[in-house]
Amino acid sequence: MKNIRNKTLRVLKTVIEENQDFILFTHQNPDGDAIGSVLAFYYFLEELNKNPTIYMTGVVPYFYEFLLKKEVKIVKEIDRKYEVGIVFDSSDKNRITEEFDISEKVKVLINIDHHPTNSNFGNINIVNPKAASVTEIISDIIKKLGYEISINVAECILTGLITDTGSFKFSNTNYKSLKIASDLVKKGANISKISKEIYEKRKMASLKLMGISLLRLQLYRNIGWSFIEEEDMKVNGASQEDIEGIIDLLRTLKEADLVVLFYPYNKEKIKVSLRSKKDSIDVSRLALKFGGGGHKEAAGFQIDKTQMNSYDDFIKKIDSYINSDEWVYTHK
Ligand code: 5GP
Ligand code: MN
Repeated sequence: MKNIRNKTLRVLKTVIEENQDFILFTHQNPDGDAIGSVLAFYYFLEELNKNPTIYMTGVVPYFYEFLLKKEVKIVKEIDRKYEVGIVFDSSDKNRITEEFDISEKVKVLINIDHHPTNSNFGNINIVNPKAASVTEIISDIIKKLGYEISINVAECILTGLITDTGSFKFSNTNYKSLKIASDLVKKGANISKISKEIYEKRKMASLKLMGISLLRLQLYRNIGWSFIEEEDMKVNGASQEDIEGIIDLLRTLKEADLVVLFYPYNKEKIKVSLRSKKDSIDVSRLALKFGGGGHKEAAGFQIDKTQMNSYDDFIKKIDSYINSDEWVYTHK
């Protein structure tokens, strides 16, 4: 694997071999790659007789609970310093928590990610924007370090690949992602079984929110957009996890080059998810402008409610930005 430098791998190997005590992090509102990554590495470290712990402010979304194969140590607070911290699928430290600086809770911080917008915040950074998922990088790491991938780890890796490639149909689906998936299937991981767990066991609340956002779908020039509000969540008894996947329904709109979904994040902030359908619109750049990040085709950010007068106005702002000189001349 050319993508991880040999020196980095040697350092990583030493850090793993010489320490016992690991704390694993991923971003808030974790998706399949986030959950797949932390759990894959958790099981991998346990198999090496290490002592891993996962830090997570929220819960494991119910449609990823099938990956909890045994009791997994997950903490909501960090009350001591750990030897090693590893962050997965997070382009910035503050996507994990805004409450404290995770660097202060560990002696060494390792950053494993595939977002081109990653800020290289770790002491060791393994960032490969070419990888379809972070779990793909984990598969590389485990193999390169000379270990076998167990069935538990294989299912977690495959979950990250399935979710981040949109079930092997986004443009990050290539020979390598399919090759890794094929190796995992050979080990006994089952794409059909995993897909049913993720996509066919949604709560009623989730489908109701899909309906609401489809009914509200609007088109402004080439931007398709919709929104979900606090009240919709309350009326339908929905939680954050029920929103995952809705943006992917909206992106099927023929007339849109760009799709935007607004939804509640917390008391002060609104979350904005972006998806691009056109090569010339790199939504990670759009997200960066508003303090977020992501990939060319999928990105997001959060915005203070006070900064958003109305959704309409905000969509117009996005439209004028992607048609501005600044955008056109600096957009690669
Ligand atoms: P989603 O819209 O599904 O939440 O996220 C799409 C992509 O953008 C994911 O790769 C996600 O990690 C990234 N992303 C979403 N929101 C943020 C954000 O607030 N900050 C950063 N840095 N990345 C984000
Ligand atoms: Mn990812």
